[in-house]
Amino acid sequence: MKRSEIKKAQDRAYKMFVRAGIALTQTERANIEVADFGLGKLEKTGLEIVTYVNTERVCAKELVLFPSQVCPQHRHPTVNGRPGKEETFRCRMGTVYVYVPGEETKKRAVEPPKNGAYSVFHEIALKPGDQYTLVPDTWHWFAAGPEGAIVSEFSTTSTDEAD
Ligand code: ZN
Repeated sequence: MKRSEIKKAQDRAYKMFVRAGIALTQTERANIEVADFGLGKLEKTGLEIVTYVNTERVCAKELVLFPSQVCPQHRHPTVNGRPGKEETFRCRMGTVYVYVPGEETKKRAVEPPKNGAYSVFHEIALKPGDQYTLVPDTWHWFAAGPEGAIVSEFSTTSTDEAD
C-alpha cells in the first residue's frame, strides 16, 4: 500500500472513532494499523486496528471496518502447544456480521469477495452493545454493514504467526 493510501485510511478510521465518541491519543491515531492482507483492495478486504494492549496473556483492540469492508476468513490454531487466541467481539458502532461454522444463512447480509477462501456462512449480526465469543481455532470472517462498524476485540494474546 502506498503511504498516501495508508494515511487516507487512518484519517477515515479516526473520523469514525470521533463519531463513535471513542477517544484516542495522538500516538494511537498516528499508529492506526491499516491491513489489506496483501490483496491490494483495501475498500473490499481490509481492517483498521488500534491495539490498546497485547501482553503475554491478554489483548484488547479496536477494529474499524469501512462500509461493507470484509476481514477475510481465518482461525487461531494451537501453535507450539499453546492454544490459539480466544476472541470476544463487541460491536460499538454500526453493524458487524460475523460468519462462523454452523447452518448456512441463506439470505446473508454480506457476500464474501470472489476468489477468496470462504467456507463458513452462519451469520451472527451484532449491533452496538451486542457481543460474541469465539473459541480458539474456530474459522471466522466478518464484515461491516453499509454504514461501517467499530468493534472492540477482547482476547488472549495475539500472535501474528498463528493468525
Ligand atoms: Zn480472529
